[in-house]
Amino acid sequence: MGVGGVQQAVSGSPLYRACAGDVLDTATPCSVVNYLRWDLSAQQIEVLTKELIEQTKHVYDKVGSQKFEDVSYESTLKALADVEVSYTVQRNILDFPQHVSPAKDIRSASTEADKKLSEFDVEMSMRQDVYQRIVWLQEKVEKDSLRPEAQRYLERLIKLGRRNGLHLPKETQEKIKSIKKKLSLLCIDFNKNLNEDTTFLPFTREELGGLPEDFLNSLEKTVDDKLKVTLKYPHYFPLLKKCHVPETRRKVEEAFNCRCKEENCAILKELVALRAQKSSLLGFRTHADYVLEMNMAKTSQAVATFLDELAQKLKPLGEQERAVILELKKAECARRGLAFDGRIHAWDMRYYMNQVEETRFRVDQNLLKEYFPMQVVTRGLLGIYQELLGLTFHLEEGATVWHEDVRLYSVRDAASGEVIGKFYLDLYPREGKYGHAACFGLQPGCLRQDGSRQIAIAAMVANFTKPTPDAPSLLQHDEVETYFHEFGHVMHQLCSQAEFAMFSGTHVERDFVEAPSQMLENWVWEKEPLLRMSQHYRTGSAVPQELLDKLIKSRQANTGLFNLRQIVLAKVDQALHTQTDADPAKEYARLCQEILGVPATPGTNMPATFGHLAGGYDAQYYGYLWSEVYSMDMFHTRFKQEGVLNRKVGMDYRSTILRPGGSEDASAMLKLFLGRDPRQDAFLLSKGLQVEGSEPPSC
Ligand SMILES: [Zn+2]
Repeated sequence: MGVGGVQQAVSGSPLYRACAGDVLDTATPCSVVNYLRWDLSAQQIEVLTKELIEQTKHVYDKVGSQKFEDVSYESTLKALADVEVSYTVQRNILDFPQHVSPAKDIRSASTEADKKLSEFDVEMSMRQDVYQRIVWLQEKVEKDSLRPEAQRYLERLIKLGRRNGLHLPKETQEKIKSIKKKLSLLCIDFNKNLNEDTTFLPFTREELGGLPEDFLNSLEKTVDDKLKVTLKYPHYFPLLKKCHVPETRRKVEEAFNCRCKEENCAILKELVALRAQKSSLLGFRTHADYVLEMNMAKTSQAVATFLDELAQKLKPLGEQERAVILELKKAECARRGLAFDGRIHAWDMRYYMNQVEETRFRVDQNLLKEYFPMQVVTRGLLGIYQELLGLTFHLEEGATVWHEDVRLYSVRDAASGEVIGKFYLDLYPREGKYGHAACFGLQPGCLRQDGSRQIAIAAMVANFTKPTPDAPSLLQHDEVETYFHEFGHVMHQLCSQAEFAMFSGTHVERDFVEAPSQMLENWVWEKEPLLRMSQHYRTGSAVPQELLDKLIKSRQANTGLFNLRQIVLAKVDQALHTQTDADPAKEYARLCQEILGVPATPGTNMPATFGHLAGGYDAQYYGYLWSEVYSMDMFHTRFKQEGVLNRKVGMDYRSTILRPGGSEDASAMLKLFLGRDPRQDAFLLSKGLQVEGSEPPSC
């Protein structure tokens, strides 16, 4: 999924060293301090939250109360940039534990801290006194006297000020402020409800027919000896794919899409209405237009055209694929003596899509996963990233972390040996933990007040299958893909060398942010890297050539249906943020039927479980497909041509795409890496579509 913001503080004075040769300024000293800490009690979180708010507010007060004739770069822009660095780190120490702490009281305290800090963020973003001084500075400052990134920072602050209505009458500003505060609280509650969901369904072994032994053995039992299936990913996805009892799949799919139905439905309704109201106060026709102004797409019309054209192109492919899975269902019903109703239901989708992989492409996912034990995958993945990007990783033994499953690594630039950052891996599910896979930026890589560089620190949080006493954690191939994807975000956080925290790491256009990680997903579909990250967990043998070939071919399996579903989700998101009266469940059901040809299960409310809608992706879910245009172009134009593990291309990629962070426009970075403007061809071909000019000439 997406990207969100910590580790033990190193006491004593920071170490200053010269930075890696490829950073912006080789003379910039680099501080390798990890300012993060994970030992706070619930009470300390509360106290420190208050202190952080007071200290930060003090800086804003000082900036905002200056006499205009005293306004300078140092007293305004630099003061705000400096406080942003320390504030971001401290904020993450306080608000990250809500996603990962094993202690419920700490999670609750952290959620409360997040709410208070979010309100505070709104207050500070609405400081007209500060805004007026920045505008004054822009008018006063000599053009070209600022460094390019400082100029960009200045322009961005003014833009953000206008996007908060700071140029509008006070009364409008007050309305906007109150809406923004409500919005941030609603988003926190929406996702908290989903993370804290502890629903489970009890089943007998017979009802779970088709699921492998290691899965069944990993399930907890109820008092009457039934097996507990939760709605967390490592239960939900394998069950929907492998359980051959339709009634079990139906119950689980229904429960999954009914999670937090009542409470989140109410929240979503309010969210959508408030967003529309705020955007209208700011002079935008819709919330989508307000959001998209900051993205590569710019307008909701451009997004609609992109999605509609793609849906149109994919439709015939989707229809063919649906016909194939219906045939598979018919055959299975005959084989198992089940009544065949001639229809594909929502709970049939993953099951038969998996059968397509297993029958047409003959990839046995249960056999395949025996070659992907977590340790081997991790070793292979870390090795590939190190080589490709010219880095070295070291496991920090005995590091202070928030749970015993968590590991901390330090990252050095291989050429210079300098530490550029650190990352945490928190890979297994546990109660109350963030339920998806995501990368959290915790300490931004940017310049500190004294001009030294602060190392970047990020955490990858995921929910992969946990090892049991008799079996190691064996990853499904799609889990390996998720691992590569999220780790791509981690590398983006660590390799960026922006000056300002606001442009650090993944702070790029939202419809570009997925491109770097999507591009790195390609490595789990290529022979050489696959062999490096796999080995049979018992025999130690390599994946047989034949299975490997089939796996690589199977990338084309279900492309139509898979991407049409992504279009459904993107269009639900756009619909909710372009029409004020759209009913989320109805809209979702309509689009499922129209675009996918498979109805939503009656009584469910998928949008109430759709974390992206309240997780910073509002009106931006299309970005996953949009950025794939660029990820595929980058991969095919450079890596596929010059070698997927070619270090020169890897280093080019690090310096042109990852290093700038958000300090340059994505379109400029792409042009530099590709040597031309981006094209859609590689993207369309990857979806199994024909592209004019790329077809073989007909005789
Ligand atoms: Zn992502």
